[in-house]
Amino acid sequence: MDTTTARTREEKPVNSDQFPLFADLARGGHEQVLACSHPATGLKAIIAIHDTTLGPALGGTRMWMYKNEHDAMRDVLRLSRGMTYKAAISGLNLGGGKAVIIGDPHTDKNESLFRAFGRFIDGLGGRYITAEDVGMTEQEMEWIYSETKYVTGIPKSMGGSGNPSPVTAYGVYMGMKAAAKNAYGSDSLDGKRIAIQGAGNVASHLARYISKENATLFITDIYKEKAQRLAGECSATYVSPDEIYSLEVDIFSPCALGGVVNDDTLPVLTCDILAGGANNILDDEEKHGAELKRRGILYAPDYVINAGGIINISSELEGYKEELAMRKTGRIYDTVTDILAYAETNDITTIEASNRLAEKRIRAVADTGSIYSSSSHFSHRKGELYMRDRR
Ligand code: NAD
Repeated sequence: MDTTTARTREEKPVNSDQFPLFADLARGGHEQVLACSHPATGLKAIIAIHDTTLGPALGGTRMWMYKNEHDAMRDVLRLSRGMTYKAAISGLNLGGGKAVIIGDPHTDKNESLFRAFGRFIDGLGGRYITAEDVGMTEQEMEWIYSETKYVTGIPKSMGGSGNPSPVTAYGVYMGMKAAAKNAYGSDSLDGKRIAIQGAGNVASHLARYISKENATLFITDIYKEKAQRLAGECSATYVSPDEIYSLEVDIFSPCALGGVVNDDTLPVLTCDILAGGANNILDDEEKHGAELKRRGILYAPDYVINAGGIINISSELEGYKEELAMRKTGRIYDTVTDILAYAETNDITTIEASNRLAEKRIRAVADTGSIYSSSSHFSHRKGELYMRDRR
């Protein structure tokens, strides 16, 4: 043993001034970060693996015009951590990971860049499995898939599960009903006034579920025509993007972007329940989670109720069956019920309750000593069948 090195380590512990990257990783609990550089194609990407206690890290690839490397790193660390919690609370045997590609999704895409990226994923040997996220389309996923089998959420035509949005929306709907049961004693949405922010993929499927229950629905989108079209289809009322926060409603469902419940919007909310499909709805989880609790607004944690997407794509690993994915997603109702009860019993916020329950599951698995190994995880998966070896 090199005692000099050992002594040096003891004498000079890692600190955040000297090793800011490692301090950040330690703070967030991240296992591994891979910077992927391929100048020939212009690829600049970061893959973050947060925690693989429960299984390989699954999470989408996002392509975005980050202002600088710091923003890209911050995003990938935050998103990968969120995936760990989402998988854990959803009962999936998966860890959390995410990838970001730095670039303009409208102008910087080419086949060789995504194939180079696919080879980086392949090099991780299954520790990270990717999927589609913001800024990506099926075309890029196909290019990545031509270099690595560690891709999920691929098109139905290629044997995958296709667009997860309808399943995500079903989960949000079930989570919303569980919250309604807690708040009103009945999970019926009949007669409830519900505002949906966004008229995109998740929102439109959610609106269709809700409209079957005779609720009074309000819909907005920054693209007015899109929202008006959906409102027309679901007998809903179109409202402008600014109006949505202060509408007098029972349930507010943000299904557009994150950070929409913040210092400016929270004071004007009048709803009883906050239950939406967007990721990171609360600008500051701790602060705004506490403020919602103080105001008596029941928050169904976003990553719990929007987990239908990951439940759907993870089903590909076992050989995709839509009916099974929907059944598993339907269990979000019970998960939300348990979280709300745990929060009440312990007098904590619902997001804190959810985080604690997710951590409890990870700890329990870690304590059994069953350390995940990527090869053993994949070897018993029927999903291997369609995850062809393309080499
Ligand atoms: P999408 O792009 O299809 O829809 C988003 C819609 O929000 C767009 O129509 C956009 O114009 C609108 N929008 C953006 N900013 C707005 C604003 N300020 N006010 C009103 N409307 C605004 O995206 P999606 O797939 O429906 O995803 C919606 C949210 O759900 C995202 O936060 C996403 O991360 C999250 N999510 C999606 C899935 C999925 O399966 N698609 C899974 C989990 C989480």
